[in-house]
Amino acid sequence: MRATLTAFATAGLLAAAVISGPATANPAHLPGGPCLQPDQNVSLSSVANYADVVQALDRIEHNSHGMVTVASAGRSGEGRELLYATVGSGPTTFWLQARIHGNELHSTEATLQVLDHLTSGSPAARLIRDNLTVVVIPMYNPDGAEANIRQSTTPNRIDLNRDWENFAQPESVAFWRLWRDVAPRLALDLHHMGQAPVVNGTNDLNQFQIGARSIDPARMTAQQWLTNRQMAMISVDALDQYGLANVAHYPIIDITNAALSRMLMGGTAPAGEQPVAQTPTTGAIFYEVRSVGQKSNGQLENLFRIPTMAVLTAVANGSLTSYDVSAYPGLPFATQGPCGV
Ligand SMILES: [Zn+2]
Repeated sequence: MRATLTAFATAGLLAAAVISGPATANPAHLPGGPCLQPDQNVSLSSVANYADVVQALDRIEHNSHGMVTVASAGRSGEGRELLYATVGSGPTTFWLQARIHGNELHSTEATLQVLDHLTSGSPAARLIRDNLTVVVIPMYNPDGAEANIRQSTTPNRIDLNRDWENFAQPESVAFWRLWRDVAPRLALDLHHMGQAPVVNGTNDLNQFQIGARSIDPARMTAQQWLTNRQMAMISVDALDQYGLANVAHYPIIDITNAALSRMLMGGTAPAGEQPVAQTPTTGAIFYEVRSVGQKSNGQLENLFRIPTMAVLTAVANGSLTSYDVSAYPGLPFATQGPCGV
């Protein structure tokens, strides 16, 4: 579906935007999208765009006294720098990416908040910096973000989270090379849901889905599957302490061309590159947070930032590897399939 963006302004107010799509959009086409609902109201003026990301990263780097370095992994199809920030000097590299789907808005701001937290003088931040090297990608798909669409724009309009086998897009090639070069042991990918499901067995609107498996566990090593569940339960428990997140398990999927899937499996490389013989990545999970227009921005950002910080802390203090996963099989699902990954 090609979503269209119609901007309108109301007197005295900032411009808002309405995402509209054809009435014939097929919501059964899941989980690949389309993600935003035809009648969904989105206040784009309050969401970080590409220029905001450039400015925020510059500010964070400048104020970090050398703790943060910002670099580019390459250029997008439209020529934007694919910016990432690195913070920390620890032996474990942690990959945190947001907005591979351009219209999943609030993950970008959440990663910038995480970066701000990690540059603070607190003991918790120092522990993470001493034990981890965190690679933060606030806007994986800047062209899609600027167009407010899920996919890339140029040269192909495709879902970048289905491109780690074909590598049809420069974004995929650039970030695959970065993945190879920084060799992250753990990865976390931030998404929004496009729908408003209800947690099974309740009347509670589901606000957060945990994605411990973008591929069938049979495609992972036992260690990867354990680590994924540990990362997942740390996230779920952190949200439980936060309260009222109404967490559900992401629907069962097996998508081998997603970025996280190929980080776990290896085996593919862009043209002219050698596949990585043995993947460095022993854990890779994703979050799906309730979509825009339903909660305040701050709450949506909390739903990303709180579990992300909990996972980073657990890796840094060593509690990740002994974390109890016995509650994982009991996580509820939700009644509507969301749009995602
Ligand atoms: Zn997504």
